[in-house]
Amino acid sequence: MPKNSKGKEIAEIIPDKCIGCQLCVAECPVNVITMEGAVAKIDPEPCIGCGKCFDICPTAAVIFEKPRKKKVAGAVPRPSALDEYQGVAVFIEARDGHGAEVAWELVGKARELAEKLGTRVLGFLPGTGVESVAQEAISYGCDIVHMIDNPILGSYLPQTYGKALVQLCRQAKPEILLLGATPLGRDLASVVATQLETGLTADCTGLDIDLQERLLLMTRPTFGGNIMATIFCRNHRPQMSTVRPKVMKLPQKDSSRQGEIHRLEFEAPDGTLPRIIDFIPKAADVGGEDINQAPVLVVVGKGACDSQHLPMLEQLAQLMGGTIACSRPVVESGLLPYVRQVGQTGKTVAPKIYIGVGVSGAVQHLVGMQGTEKIIAINSDRHAPMVQIADYAIIGDYAEIVPEIIQGIEARVKGSKP
Ligand SMILES: Cc1cc2nc3c(=O)[nH]c(=O)nc-3n(C[C@H](O)[C@H](O)[C@H](O)COP(=O)(O)OP(=O)(O)OC[C@H]3O[C@@H](n4cnc5c(N)ncnc54)[C@H](O)[C@@H]3O)c2cc1C
Repeated sequence: MPKNSKGKEIAEIIPDKCIGCQLCVAECPVNVITMEGAVAKIDPEPCIGCGKCFDICPTAAVIFEKPRKKKVAGAVPRPSALDEYQGVAVFIEARDGHGAEVAWELVGKARELAEKLGTRVLGFLPGTGVESVAQEAISYGCDIVHMIDNPILGSYLPQTYGKALVQLCRQAKPEILLLGATPLGRDLASVVATQLETGLTADCTGLDIDLQERLLLMTRPTFGGNIMATIFCRNHRPQMSTVRPKVMKLPQKDSSRQGEIHRLEFEAPDGTLPRIIDFIPKAADVGGEDINQAPVLVVVGKGACDSQHLPMLEQLAQLMGGTIACSRPVVESGLLPYVRQVGQTGKTVAPKIYIGVGVSGAVQHLVGMQGTEKIIAINSDRHAPMVQIADYAIIGDYAEIVPEIIQGIEARVKGSKP
C-alpha cells in the first residue's frame, strides 16, 4: 500500500476504473480529493488514510487496505450456541413445477459461500408436488434438500409458508438463509425473520464471508444509493438476506449431481386461514419481452427521452433480438412504464448486451445493471460515467447515430456490406 512522507498508509485511485462519479470527493472528511478531468486524484500528504473513499467507491477504483481493528477488551463474545448452526440454506421458490431462476442463482452463490465456510448447501423447499424441483435443486448445487410437500402449500400464504420455513430453519439450523427478492420472497423473509427473531438485510448486491468470525457480509446500496453499506448479523441465526433476480450469476446445471432429499411432516397453522378465490391477471405491458429475460436491452435515457424517436429505438432493439428499457427520468416523464425501469428502484438486469442511449450512468442506475456482459454507450458527453465504464462508446447525438446503426445492421442482414 502506498504511504505519504509521514509514513501514513494512504488510498490510491486506479484511473482506468474511476468513472468520475465524485462520490469520494464528497465523502472525504479532509477534502484532499479533487477531479483531474473525469478522474479523481488524492493528494497524498494531507490524506489521513481513513479509507472512506475506498468504502464509497461504486467501481472498486480505490486501492486501500483497512488497518485491522484491535480487539476491544471486554467486547461481547459471540454466543457459543450459534456454533450449532451449520450450512448455507436457500429458500427454493417453486412456480408451476419449476424452481424460480433466482433460487438457482442463489444456490450458485451459496456454493461459493459454503466452500469458504467448509459447510454444505441446503435447499429449503416448501410447496405441493415439488419432488422434481428438489431434484432440480440438487443439479444446481444443493447437497441436501429439506422438502415439505403438502397440499396446503399449493398457493402462497404468509401464514402457511412462514410456518413451513420457520420449521425448516428450526430443524436444520442453517447459519445463513438466502431468499430471492421476489414479491413472495420479500414477504416471506420478513415473516420468518420476525418469528426467528433474527436480522434480515434486504436487496443485497454482494455477499461474502468474514472467515475469522464466520459472518455473512451483506452489501447493499443505502442513502439513496450513494453509499454501499456492508451489514452483518453477529448474534442471531440464521443470518438472512434477500437478493434480487439477476444479481448473482446462474450456475451450470449438472443433472448427474447427487444429493439427499429429506421429506418432512408439516402441520397446518391453527386458526382460520384466508381463502384464495382467484388471481388477478398481470397488468398489460407496452409489449416486448420482460427486461429481466431479454438478452439485449436498448436503454432509453433522459438524453433520448423523446416520443418521436422511440419507434427508432424500438426498431434497434428488435433488430438486435432484444427489447426496450429505460432510466428513471423516462418513467417519470410518462414515456415508458415502470416495468421497463432499470436501477435501484427499478429492476436489476444482466443482459448480454446493454446499449445505453442518452443514459449518464448515475450510481442508482448502475447498481441495476452491473451484471451486464457488454456495455455500449451512445452519449453526447464523453465524460459521462456510462461512457467511462462502457466496453464501446459512440460519442455524439443519438438521433444521428442510431439510424446509421440500424442501416448497418439491415444491410448486413440483407447480406450486402454497409
Ligand atoms: C433514491 C433514488 C433512487 C433512484 N433510482 C433510480 C433507478 O432505479 N433507475 C434510474 O435510472 N435512476 C434512478 N435514480 C435517479 C438517478 O439518480 C439519475 O437521476 C438517473 O439515473 C439519470 O437518468 P439519465 O441517465 O437518463 O439522465 P441524465 O443523468 O440527465 O443523463 C442524460 C444523458 O444523456 C446525454 N445526452 C443528452 N442529449 C443527448 C443526445 N442528443 N444524444 C446522446 N446523448 C445525449 C447526456 O450527456 C447525459 O449523459 C434514483 C435516484 C434516487 C435519489
